[in-house]
Amino acid sequence: MLKKPRRCGTCTGCCTTHRIPELEKPAGTPCPKLGEKGCSIYGKHPTSCREFKCLWLRGGFEGSQRPDRLGLVCDVAEPKNGVQPMVVRELWEGALESTEAKLFVEYYCSKMILILFNHRVERLGTFGPPEQLARALGER
Ligand code: SF4
Ligand code: SF4
Repeated sequence: MLKKPRRCGTCTGCCTTHRIPELEKPAGTPCPKLGEKGCSIYGKHPTSCREFKCLWLRGGFEGSQRPDRLGLVCDVAEPKNGVQPMVVRELWEGALESTEAKLFVEYYCSKMILILFNHRVERLGTFGPPEQLARALGER
């Protein structure tokens, strides 16, 4: 049976984690257009907002791991030497410390390359299976 396409619903995670060049909004800060009921300019919101789809919205992970519940917004980075890393951004301070987030990171680190950022947009590192890391770094 076909799965129902996912919808953002009440999630507004990427409105905080991502940079919106049209609004000169930096990554890691809530968008000034974000109101209590979501985007206050919805329908006239910038192209980069319209085009962005996090991996959860694209059907990845469990339905219950929506970014506003898990506290992590995930998307992909440019492939390097044929390896496609996943970028994981912490949505609020401490989100990476929850048991669920730790299990999530641990699981995906065993499968692929993860580039991890905390809620202050500080890069915590690049993690993953050693052979994939070596390939991405051009060592293989
Ligand atoms: S983080 Fe994902 S699910 Fe949440 S608003 Fe952005 S695209 Fe939608
Ligand atoms: S303009 Fe609207 S959709 Fe875009 S980041 Fe701001 S609140 Fe979110």
